[in-house]
Order: sequence, then structure tokens, then C-alpha cells
Amino acid sequence: METFKDKDEKLRKIKEEVLNCQKCSLYRNRNYPVIGEGNHQAKIMFIGEAPGVQEDRTGRPFCGPAGKILDELLNSAGIKREDVYISNLLKCRPPNNRDPQKEEIEACSPYLEKQIEIISPKVICPLGRYSMQFLMEKFGLKEQIQPISKIHGKIFEVKNLFQNIKIIPFYHPAVATYNINTKETLKRDFKILERFK
Ligand code: URA
Ligand code: SF4
Repeated sequence: METFKDKDEKLRKIKEEVLNCQKCSLYRNRNYPVIGEGNHQAKIMFIGEAPGVQEDRTGRPFCGPAGKILDELLNSAGIKREDVYISNLLKCRPPNNRDPQKEEIEACSPYLEKQIEIISPKVICPLGRYSMQFLMEKFGLKEQIQPISKIHGKIFEVKNLFQNIKIIPFYHPAVATYNINTKETLKRDFKILERFK
């Protein structure tokens, strides 16, 4: 039986690896990689896209404007940030927040895959289309991929070796910083999580 301490130790090792990682060119311009933070026993895990300017300065996920929205959304669903785990598809900031590139996702995603395996959440919530696409492919849902505008807030059930996992894609909270309608949609979608917390 794996103990809490085993999990902490495994996650600490990943942190060490990411801090030293040079597997793609994004390491050149980063200040801090953003590894992830939250509860190592979390039932719900959120996966963003990549660090923004504020995250790169601090090494903490979702601590800038998009993070403010995420906090609001969690609040509105009655979820405490310290109860969930938050990470990203890419651990280092792409220049000018440009979209992640295929090679970068290939190089970096093994870290995320390990984090998911260790934390073993019941519900995984990709935020935005890049992590949605990656996670749906990873969990055998490739055929069901559609634009995020179509599948946000839908629940996809997948069987893992050990348990059933739910994948629930959401719009990226950053979109809500400039589109008020998206914020309302996100709030509605986040309500789904009330039954899984
Ligand atoms: N956007 C993301 O996708 N991740 C962060 O950590 C911050 C902003
Ligand atoms: Fe390594 Fe990922 Fe950073 Fe690229 S983005 S250098 S793969 S940690």
C-alpha cells in the first residue's frame, strides 16, 4: 500500500527533474518552471496550458489574472483551492504566451503523465483546448474530441487499470478575462464539480 509519504517523495523527484529540465527550448527563457501545487491526495486535478508571466516569475500555477478567475470559479462551486491539485501541460512559459508547440508537448507531457499517475485523481479537468486534446488522446477518447466550444462541461468516463476516471474539459479561465459570457459558462460548468469534491 502506497503511503502519503511515498507520494510526496515521488512528486518531489519530479520537481527535481523539472527544475533541471532542458528537454525543449523553453528552458532558455524561463525564470521558474511551474511544476504544480495543491493536495497530493486530491480527488480533482486541473490541468492548464502553460505558465504565464506571473507564474514564470513565481513558479506557482494560476497566480495571475487567469488564476483570479480560477479562484472565483472554485469558490462558486464551493471547492477549496487547497483541496485540489493544479498543474499545466507545459512547465515552462512559451515566449509571449504563444500556443504550445507539438515538440514541446511531446517533451514535457511525460511529467504531467507521471503527476497524474501519482496523484491518481478521480476527476481530471483540462482547462483549454491544448490540455483537453492531450488528455482525451491519452485516455482513449480521441474519437470524441471536438472543439472546446462543443465539449466544455461534458463528462467523459474512462476506465483506468485501477479505477474509473472522469475527464471534464472546461474553457481556459484566461478567456473569461476578456469575455464575460465565457465566465458565466465556466461558472455553470464548474457547478458539475460540486458532486465530486
Ligand atoms: N494559464 C495557464 O494555462 N496556466 C497557468 O498556470 C496560468 C495561466
Ligand atoms: Fe523541460 Fe517542459 Fe520546460 Fe520544456 S517546458 S524545458 S520539457 S520542463
